[in-house]
Amino acid sequence: MTHSINLLGATGSIGRQTLDVCRRYPEIRINTAAAATSHEALAACAREFGVKKVCIFDESRYESLKNELFGSGITVTAGMDGLCECAADEDAECTVNAVVGAAGLLPTVSAMKAHRRIALANKETLVAGGGYVMQLAKECGVDIIPIDSEHSAVFQCMEGISGDRHSQIKGIILTASGGPFFGMKRAQLESVTPEMALRHPNWSMGSKITIDSATMMNKGFELIEACHLFSLAPSQVEISVHRQSIIHSAVVTADNAVIAQLGVPDMTIPIQYALTYPERRVSSSKPLSLSDIGQLTFEKADTETFSCLAAAMRAADMPQTTAGAVINGANEVLVRLFLEKKIAFTDISDGVCAALDEIPLTASDDLDNILAADRAAREFAESRSVADI
Ligand code: NDP
Ligand code: MG
Repeated sequence: MTHSINLLGATGSIGRQTLDVCRRYPEIRINTAAAATSHEALAACAREFGVKKVCIFDESRYESLKNELFGSGITVTAGMDGLCECAADEDAECTVNAVVGAAGLLPTVSAMKAHRRIALANKETLVAGGGYVMQLAKECGVDIIPIDSEHSAVFQCMEGISGDRHSQIKGIILTASGGPFFGMKRAQLESVTPEMALRHPNWSMGSKITIDSATMMNKGFELIEACHLFSLAPSQVEISVHRQSIIHSAVVTADNAVIAQLGVPDMTIPIQYALTYPERRVSSSKPLSLSDIGQLTFEKADTETFSCLAAAMRAADMPQTTAGAVINGANEVLVRLFLEKKIAFTDISDGVCAALDEIPLTASDDLDNILAADRAAREFAESRSVADI
């Protein structure tokens, strides 16, 4: 059980649900907290939880945050240096990374170098830098406890397998809700608006991951995340569209037994497990009643229509390259442009596929290569939005 955390992304969807878990279990102390721009919410969190140090990534909000916390004795920092400092602070045993986007990569690296355990929601850390990060985790002897619901499910299923897991696990079944546009074809997707894409059928999440779910980029990212976390080849991962989001994923063992983790779609369950691991504690989530649900359905994903998923599958087949950093960087920019109504929904997948085709790939075991690929992909996506749309 974790007794103290550094919480990066404290004001977001995962961050706020982490705070709820900490309110239920006050023995989990919040040591440092960080956000991008929400200085008022960050100050309120810092005061409520008696945080030691905070970081506001947007340096133009530093003075406002400092004023809000005047006289509190709380140290205020800003920018990427402050974020990495909060991530690595040694008065907490675990760093919860709930930042959105590749901005989460460097703080993960800092926390690992300081030998903090990582509770990881920020999947972009592994999509962009998985090869490097997993090697670093090994070298530093750091455990990564996944918060993403599917990966938490696989992690929980694997807990029941003793001995050499590698030889006993045949693969995993990664479930996908299919998002709001499951069953549609490309022609229908062309006129999708941000308002339509932000309406997820099962989960309430931050806007970026909600759009990623609508394009199915999210499932592609989760494939890459799973391959890194559990040392799997992409061919060992079956993606199954399961509209009800009740089975959060499953492990297939050598004898063809399938061990699944089920529950209502509620992120406080995997967040709380990451913090109370290896213990199980009472939760505020609703219990699952299978007879109330009635039916669980499973279908194949349409990778032709949802070509972000196809691009991520291609990237997953090249884990030693910067392909993951390229699709992630391009996707981040394209999702922002779509939310700003500057490009169409289908321009996201077209741009991601073009970035993967056109940007030269380098080796992913080097952090500078990963950061360079991320920058190149962002520039590519920005220029495309001007040139092609
Ligand atoms: P939100 O957009 O709701 O929250 C993001 C949080 O990160 C906010 O606190 C934001 O601060 C902060 N942030 C963003 N950029 C920076 C930065 N550069 N430096 C410091 N803080 C930053 O996202 P979610 O909570 O939905 O998602 C967070 C991560 O968890 C993502 O990687 C997502 O893929 C993953 N995830 C989320 C799930 C969910 O249910 N929401 C499920 C599974 C995974 P501010 O408020 O100031 O903008
Ligand atoms: Mg998920």
